[in-house]
Amino acid sequence: MFDFKVIKHQLNLLSIRNKMLLGNKSSYFQGMFLGMFLGIFVSISIPVLGQPVTISSQFSFAPDPNFNSVIQTTLPSTSQNNLAVRTISTPDNYDSSQPNYKHLTTSDSISKYFEKIHQEALLRGHSYSRLGELCKKYGARLSGSDQTERAIEWAVQMLKSYEFDSVYQQPVMVPRWERGENSNLSIHSPLMGLIFKESKVISFGSKQFGIVDCIDAQKLQKMINSNRFQHSPASEYECNGYIQWLLTEQFKNEKDLKNAIKQNTFPGEISALGGSVSGNIEGKIVCINSKNQLDSLGKLGVLKNKIVVLNRPFEEDYIQTFKSYGSCVNQRVNGADWCAPYGVKGVLVRSMSNACDMHAHTGVTYYSDPKNAIPIAAIPTALADALNFLNIIDTELSVRFQLNCKTLEDRLSSNVLAETKGGIYPNKIIVFGGHFDSWDEGEGAHDDGAGCMHAFEALRILKTIGYQPKHTLRCAFWINEENGLKGALKYAELCQEKGEIHSAAIESDRGGFTPRGFGVDSAMYTQTQKYRAIWDKYLLDHWEIGGGGADIGPLKKKDPNTVLVSFIPDSQRYFDVHHAKTDVFENVNKRELELGAAALACMIMVLDQEME
Ligand SMILES: [Zn+2]
Repeated sequence: MFDFKVIKHQLNLLSIRNKMLLGNKSSYFQGMFLGMFLGIFVSISIPVLGQPVTISSQFSFAPDPNFNSVIQTTLPSTSQNNLAVRTISTPDNYDSSQPNYKHLTTSDSISKYFEKIHQEALLRGHSYSRLGELCKKYGARLSGSDQTERAIEWAVQMLKSYEFDSVYQQPVMVPRWERGENSNLSIHSPLMGLIFKESKVISFGSKQFGIVDCIDAQKLQKMINSNRFQHSPASEYECNGYIQWLLTEQFKNEKDLKNAIKQNTFPGEISALGGSVSGNIEGKIVCINSKNQLDSLGKLGVLKNKIVVLNRPFEEDYIQTFKSYGSCVNQRVNGADWCAPYGVKGVLVRSMSNACDMHAHTGVTYYSDPKNAIPIAAIPTALADALNFLNIIDTELSVRFQLNCKTLEDRLSSNVLAETKGGIYPNKIIVFGGHFDSWDEGEGAHDDGAGCMHAFEALRILKTIGYQPKHTLRCAFWINEENGLKGALKYAELCQEKGEIHSAAIESDRGGFTPRGFGVDSAMYTQTQKYRAIWDKYLLDHWEIGGGGADIGPLKKKDPNTVLVSFIPDSQRYFDVHHAKTDVFENVNKRELELGAAALACMIMVLDQEME
């Protein structure tokens, strides 16, 4: 058995020292400082109107029943009989032979349309199954890839099948970056070798990985958890961390395990950041929790030839997780730039996520000076916690990581647009959409397949229920939001060239979760609030003055009169999957996605009615 007393003693000393240096706020954010006295680097951080509709089978409205299979298989066969015949009521003042834009002047008529929209979305929705097609037939959609271009062809044909007034593409040149094959990370730790020495593979798990039995390794995981979750009465339940991942998902047989122990080298998980250069780097690590720490240590020359781990975690007390993301994403976007001047060899960034798990979350990074570009990659939050801890207790700890990224020539791609012409103001546009590209990890299901399907479905619902808009309604799938914004910039540029007037622009890029409300520019905020009682009925009760989004921002720059609106769904689980392998169709809830599309359609209708 390994003697953990020495480790505990060392941690006690460090804890006393941290309190002296950083005060009580430092319970977890113990900060990074030089542990030279101990001879080590210390980093403890850180919806068909008019006619009755007979529903004859569960998914007869779905464009492709295959993608409802998850639900279908979970429903008892008798549940289909319960649906029987549903009659869809018509708003009292609706005349299907007449344009109806002049009728919607009362809250009552608005309310009836809200009902129709929600019925169409929830009873005969297309958003979920279309998202399934997109994710499962095409998958990830990194700008400039062949796969993305095939998905764009699908999107055009899919939209054309609904016979909107027009469906067209807008050519755009996009950057092209590839992560390449076989990026990897390994952790060299003689101490871990010692701890795993008595271990053996005892059985096989569901993924055909051996379950390793090692009491000391379990103890090590507990220590990592209690260091990370110091407030927790039972920290072992807070996170299945890195060591647990090693014990259950990494060793296929006894030989693999013995090899790791012999070489004191254990596997890790890594995802190159979008835009990173390639590299093969080995070195000692320094964990950093703030830009100030980085600069202080950098000026002391401590970071030279080191691998820096940027380990500032999300601030968990924000209710909206986008604020947590915003508060620390600069370390991912600018991390390499920050570190390069101090002689740092490479950078590992703690994943931008609330979750404690072993998934790496990628995202864009930029170099202000390509000549000084150093490799930069994301590591899982649980691995960041483990490295942070191991770096305290193992003076011999080092890591090696290899990235095989490539930046290729820009390529011609396109935005995809679909329209219903306005009856009164055909030259004034209400645009709504999401971005069609995604990162190459996962399937871009929530980010932002969901936003695109919200927009398409809103246009489809309004057409299907017979709503005749005053303004031209345009659904947009913008390309290249993730690593260049070229689609949105080109869209705004072409709108200006053509002299198009955008009355309003709505963006959905916060996932396919339960809709909560909207952020609306002050010019239209009061008008949307006239219908608060109706919005409330659909649990859309979160309102913010001021709207925006990456893809609609450029429109406002060209025309300050464009009203920006952001769709706001619940954000609590978004960053669990954002830019990670877990952003897949299976992690999107059908009802939540459908309610989002309905909320968007309601907002489009209200703006169309209230704006001139
Ligand atoms: Zn996005």
